[in-house]
Amino acid sequence: MKLISKNNVDTKLILSKHGISRTKFRSDLLSLFYIERSLTVEGILHYFKNTIDKVTVYRSLESFEIRGLIHKVPDSKNLKRYSLCVEQECSIDSHNHNHGHFICHTCNQTFCMQDVNLPRIKSKGFYIQELKLIAEGYCQDCYTK
Ligand SMILES: [Zn+2]
Ligand SMILES: [Zn+2]
Ligand SMILES: [Zn+2]
Repeated sequence: MKLISKNNVDTKLILSKHGISRTKFRSDLLSLFYIERSLTVEGILHYFKNTIDKVTVYRSLESFEIRGLIHKVPDSKNLKRYSLCVEQECSIDSHNHNHGHFICHTCNQTFCMQDVNLPRIKSKGFYIQELKLIAEGYCQDCYTK
């Protein structure tokens, strides 16, 4: 299978930069992230027509996440779903996100809203580690259909 990404990104170079061992599957998987906005394990297995086993998919996603390539995003059915991180923002063990997410009611796709910054909130007696902001509605493609 040959995946041609929109931006013609050199996925092998990106994998190397992030210290991830390059395999054909990982390179193809990363390409897929540049095509789709977000992906679930089920979606990935479907895309590769079950030529790859679940464990390999889980392991690859895990190493992508640890190495700062992808981050978990909310999913309409509470499945594990991931999107690409913005380059330069994240690195090994250090994700640095400050954006909200959007779930579309029609295509069930999850989008990163890079232009929506999360507010800094404080509450007495609570140490807040993470704040999530999830908006729902219709994405541009679905809204205009
Ligand atoms: Zn990240
Ligand atoms: Zn949509
Ligand atoms: Zn995001």
